[in-house]
Amino acid sequence: MKIVNARLRKKEGLFSLELTAGRIAAITAQPDSIACAPGELDAAGNLVTAPFVEPHIHLDATLTAGEPAWNMSGTLFEGIERWAERKALVTHEDIKTRAKKTIDMLVDHGIQHVRTHVDVTDPTLAALRAMVEVREETRHLIDLQIVAFPQEGIESFAGGRALMEEAVALGADVVGGIPHFENTREQGVSSIRFLMELAERTGCLVDVHCDETDDPHSRFVEVLAEEARVRGMARGSPPATPRRWAPTTTPTAPSCSAC
Ligand SMILES: [Zn+2]
Repeated sequence: MKIVNARLRKKEGLFSLELTAGRIAAITAQPDSIACAPGELDAAGNLVTAPFVEPHIHLDATLTAGEPAWNMSGTLFEGIERWAERKALVTHEDIKTRAKKTIDMLVDHGIQHVRTHVDVTDPTLAALRAMVEVREETRHLIDLQIVAFPQEGIESFAGGRALMEEAVALGADVVGGIPHFENTREQGVSSIRFLMELAERTGCLVDVHCDETDDPHSRFVEVLAEEARVRGMARGSPPATPRRWAPTTTPTAPSCSAC
C-alpha cells in the first residue's frame, strides 16, 4: 500500500509513504503534488500521523447522559449517583450497542488504542461480560484494554473483593480502584493493598481513580506509590509475572460520564 501527498508533523512539503506487511517501509519526499495511482491512497495534503490513544473512557456508561436523570449539580458524586440509577437498567445488548457506537466514533477520530474502565460493582458483572465480547468483536478496529473498575468501592460494596477477583478471571486486563470513594480512609488504604496484591498475583496492570476529589486530606496516591515501591512494581521494576496485555500495533483522547 502507498499513501501519497501526505503532510507530516514538523516537516515542510509533501511525502509518499510505502507500507509493507503493516509497517512503514519507506518515506519519500515529493517535489510536488502527484497523481494518485490505482490502489494508492491520496492524503490530498492532509496530515498523516500515528494513531491516537484514548487512555481513559467508560464505555459501559457512554451515551447515557440524562438517563434516567441529569446530573443537576455537575459534581462527580452526583454523577456516580446518576450512573448507579442507570446501571440498574443496563442489559447485555444495551452495553454492547452503546460501546460499539462509541468505538466507531473513536475510530473516526483516528484513535486506535483504548483503555476502558468497566464498572464491576454489579453482582451480575453484566457490563464486564459484555465488554469482554466487545473487545473480541472490535479487535480488527482497535486495541481495547479493560479495567476492572469498582465504581462504588471495593471495601464499601457488598462482595466487592470477590467481584474484582471474578472480573480478572473473566478477562479484565487491568485492576482499578477508587479509594477516595470508600466509606472510610482505612477502607481506602485497604482497597489499595487489595488491588495491588491482586495485580501482583495475576500480572494485571494497575489504573486507579485516585484522589479524584477536592478533599485535601485525600492522600491515597502516596499509599499507591508506596505499595508499588515495596512490591517492586514501581516504574522500571520487572513485573513479578508477565503483563497480561501486549499491544499488537504501535500506538493518545470522548469523555467519561462518571468522572
Ligand atoms: Zn473515569
